[in-house]
Amino acid sequence: MHSLHWLKKSCAVALAGILLTYSGSSFVFADEQSDLADRLEQAQQALEESEQKLDDAQNELENQQKLGSSMRQSEQQLRNEISSLVGQISTTEAQIAAKQEEIDEQQGKIDEQQERIDDRWDDFKERVAAMQVMRSGGMLGMLANVTSLTAFLSFGDDLQQLSKKDREVLDEMNAEKAKLEQLQLELETQRNELETQRVNMQSQQQQLEANKAQLAEQIKEQDKNIDAAAADEQAAQAERDAKYRIWVQAQAEYDRLANQGGGGSVIGDGSVTWPLPGYTRLSSVFGEDRWIWGVADTNHGGVDIPAPAGTPIHVFQSGTVYNSYYSASYGNVVMVDHGGGLVSIYAHMSSRAANVGDVVIVGDVIGYVGSTGQSSGNHLHFETRQNGVRVDPLGYVSPS
Ligand SMILES: [Zn+2]
Repeated sequence: MHSLHWLKKSCAVALAGILLTYSGSSFVFADEQSDLADRLEQAQQALEESEQKLDDAQNELENQQKLGSSMRQSEQQLRNEISSLVGQISTTEAQIAAKQEEIDEQQGKIDEQQERIDDRWDDFKERVAAMQVMRSGGMLGMLANVTSLTAFLSFGDDLQQLSKKDREVLDEMNAEKAKLEQLQLELETQRNELETQRVNMQSQQQQLEANKAQLAEQIKEQDKNIDAAAADEQAAQAERDAKYRIWVQAQAEYDRLANQGGGGSVIGDGSVTWPLPGYTRLSSVFGEDRWIWGVADTNHGGVDIPAPAGTPIHVFQSGTVYNSYYSASYGNVVMVDHGGGLVSIYAHMSSRAANVGDVVIVGDVIGYVGSTGQSSGNHLHFETRQNGVRVDPLGYVSPS
C-alpha cells in the first residue's frame, strides 16, 4: 500500500516534470503548427483554384477542338458535294456531246433532203421552162424532137401531168424536210437544256468552291484558336502542377511537425506508380531466403526489379526525401517519407537524383538503376516500411 502510494507520487512528479517541459515547447510548437496549418490551407486553396482553372482550360480546349473537327467535317462534306457535282457535270458534258452528234447527224439528213429537193426542183424548173418555150411558139424547136403528132400531144399532156406530179413530190419532200427540221429543233432544245443544266451546276460548283475556300480560312483561324487554347491548357497544367508541389510541400512540413514520431496522414493524393514502368519481372520477392556471394541472406526486405543500368527510377508515391546517401550495403540509396508512417527506399542506384528535403511528386525521377553496394547485377531494390517495419511493397503498388 505504502510502496504503491510512493510509486503513484513519484510517477505524478515525473509526469508533472514531463508536462512542464512539454507545455514549454508545445507553446512554440503550437504557434508554428498553426502557421504551417495556415500555409497548408492556403496551398490547398491555391491548388483547388488552379485545378478549377485547369478544368476550365481543358473544357475550353475540348470545345475549340470540337468546333474545329465539326468545321473539318463540313469541309469534307463540301468536298464530297463538289466531287459529286464534278461527276454530274462531266456526265452532262458527255450527254451534250452525244446530243451534238445526233444534231450533226440530223443536220446531215436535212442537208441530203435539201439536195434531193434542189435536184427535183432543178428538173422541174427545166421542164417548166421547156413547156413555156413550147407554149410561146418555140414549137419548131420542140417539134424537132417529137416524131409524131400523137407523141407531141401526149408530150404536152405529160408535161402538164409531170409538173403536177413534181409539185406533189416537192411538197412531200418539203414536208419531210420540215419534219427533219422539227426534230432538229427538238434536239437543239434538249441540248440547250443540258447546256443550261451544265451552266447551273458549274455556277453551283463555283459557289461551293467559294464556300470551301472561306471555310478553309475559318479552319485556319480555328486551328489558331485551338493552338491558343492548348497553350492555355498547358500553362494551366503547369500552374496546377506547381501548386500541387507547393501543397505537397506544405503538407509534408505540417506532417513533419504535427506528427513527430510517426503517424499522420499520407502526403499528396495517395496515387501510386510502379518505380520502373515496363519492368514488371521480379528477380526476388519480399521475404525470400537466398545466397548472395556465398552468404546467406534471409528474409529479403524488399523486391528486386532487374532493369538496364541508367533506367530512370520514379518515386512510387509523393513525399519528402529524408535520406540520400551511399551505403556499403544499399549502395546509392534514396529514402522517401510519404507520411502516415510509410517510407519507401530505392537502393543499388548508379546515381541519385534527389536530395534530402526535396519534395517529390509521384512519378518524379529520383535516381537511376545500377548495381552499387551489395548487389549482383543491375536492378532496383525497392523497399517499403510501415512504422519502421519492412512490408511487402506489392501491398501498395503492382508491377506495371
Ligand atoms: Zn533486394
